[in-house]
Amino acid sequence: MSDIETASAPSNFIRDFVADDLATGRYDRVLTRFPPEPNGWLHIGHAKAFSIDFGIAAEFGGKCNLRFDDTNPEKEDMSYVEAIKRDVKWLGYDWEDREFYASDYYEHLYEQAVKIIRKGKAYVDDLSEEEIKEYRGTNVPDKNNITHTPPGRDSPYRNRTVEENLDLFARMRAGEFPDGSKTLRAKIDMAHPNLLMRDPVMYRIRREPHYRTGTAWCIYPMYDFQHPLSDALEGVTHSLCSLEYEIHRPLYDWFIREAEAFPSRQIEFARLNLTHTVLSKRWLLRLVQEGFVSGWDDPRMPTLAGLRRRGFTPESIRDFMNRIGVAKTDSFVDVQLLEYCLREDLNRRARRVMAVLRPLKLVIENWPDGKVEELEAVNNPEDPSAGTRKVPFSGTLYIERDDFMEVPPPKYFRLFPGNSVRLRYGYIVTCTGFDKDPATGEVTAVRCTYDPETKGGNAPDNRKVKGTIHWVSAESAVPLEARLYDRLFPNERPMDVPPGVDWVGTMNRDSLETVAGALGEPCLAECKPGDRYQFERLGYFTCDPDTNSGRRVFNRTVSLRDTWAKIAQKGG
Ligand code: ATP
Ligand code: MG
Repeated sequence: MSDIETASAPSNFIRDFVADDLATGRYDRVLTRFPPEPNGWLHIGHAKAFSIDFGIAAEFGGKCNLRFDDTNPEKEDMSYVEAIKRDVKWLGYDWEDREFYASDYYEHLYEQAVKIIRKGKAYVDDLSEEEIKEYRGTNVPDKNNITHTPPGRDSPYRNRTVEENLDLFARMRAGEFPDGSKTLRAKIDMAHPNLLMRDPVMYRIRREPHYRTGTAWCIYPMYDFQHPLSDALEGVTHSLCSLEYEIHRPLYDWFIREAEAFPSRQIEFARLNLTHTVLSKRWLLRLVQEGFVSGWDDPRMPTLAGLRRRGFTPESIRDFMNRIGVAKTDSFVDVQLLEYCLREDLNRRARRVMAVLRPLKLVIENWPDGKVEELEAVNNPEDPSAGTRKVPFSGTLYIERDDFMEVPPPKYFRLFPGNSVRLRYGYIVTCTGFDKDPATGEVTAVRCTYDPETKGGNAPDNRKVKGTIHWVSAESAVPLEARLYDRLFPNERPMDVPPGVDWVGTMNRDSLETVAGALGEPCLAECKPGDRYQFERLGYFTCDPDTNSGRRVFNRTVSLRDTWAKIAQKGG
């Protein structure tokens, strides 16, 4: 766990860059953008990116554009656009009317490409994709493991005249050539130490309908060309992105310079990595497509939709982002920090109720026949304004199966023959016996007597008991289904697998446990999807969208046990 972040000091080096750019007059205002590709749902890593984009803009009185970088017709779709917008909004960010699409810039980008061709800085190439790769060359480690990058080779088409390139490029657009037969490439340097600078492809021919432009185009710009020039067109000052784009920065600057466009500036920050999960759309897509999870919004997924369905609050995620800060080197963040932020928030806002996951009948032998008493229960001890509610109490209750033991181990303070416990908000009861199914040996009911003098904590001092357990009343309890989740991956870093091992295979196949036959107190009859509760002693739960009039489903958002506080303490 050595380089897993435990620090909680918020820091943000980007702030200093931006402040400096304003002070030196490099820019006179701040405009950022969040540029998702609509080819998947957003995960919490994206949330880090857009909190930074919107956060920096807000800090400097600027704006932030939401721009869909949608130039790969194969994988993009309107449903992803909608999902992305919904999730950005959910986290509390507002792009107002600043919603843009790179696909709206196709004409502009085409003209920029023509401009670069005219300068003799781009050419149409007939090499195939494989040949381009081969001509480019690769990094080769020597016997001391030092990397060398021998120069690549020029394409035989590299020296076409400007006129020929202009003509061929126009005809590429007009659809005269088959897919993959030609590309437009930037003419930079085939011996450049950065392989990305070795005449990168700017346009490819691809006859694939695009979800927004349909069949209007059969050539599509590549990301490295499209991205800087889209930023520049929008007048973006600070183009903030994750560290893997650092190596693309010289190319970003090259296109802006050669196109004589607005000088947007790219600044990279560390990607968010979280323990016990993977944060890449490509990998998450695999979990969805291969059926390891029920969908992008499976409550075990680190997608924003998954976290929302699991019961995370936007506030807890924003708090988490503040705590991890913005650094320049990649690191792993312990998922328990995220859970800590969640518990802090839910502790303040979640209503307490009682529910029993694995019910065991408790019969109070001296309770008056047919009597139902309404007990007063506190809705949230952290928030007096949440008030109180009435919980019906009667002679037959259900308690948690593991709150009774026939033969208790040492330090077991719950029910066992002869022992007394307090029933939460109710009375002290003393176990007098239990019933067993002779065939299976299973305990079917526990018997007890209650002490009428001990109602609601008014026990005389000599009647203090060590255990308090929760319960529901048999005749008014509502049936529930509970879904309990475990980590998706047992390994802290799921992608760190030995060569030849498929990371997907290390997934925890028991990460979902469905508990049918749980029971809750009557107020849960009215629950709606998204409602959040603390089930006393069991954890925080949220009502799942699978809930309908005949069925109530609850996801355990997080247990009550906080391991983070201990870790933080140890770390000093
Ligand atoms: P993925 O690797 O998950 O497929 P991506 O970078 O390909 O993500 P985009 O839609 O291109 O997906 O990402 C939009 C923005 O989100 C980019 O600017 C990228 O830098 C940022 N981003 C993606 N993943 C992370 C992460 N784990 N931490 C921080 N920022 C991220
Ligand atoms: Mg990307």
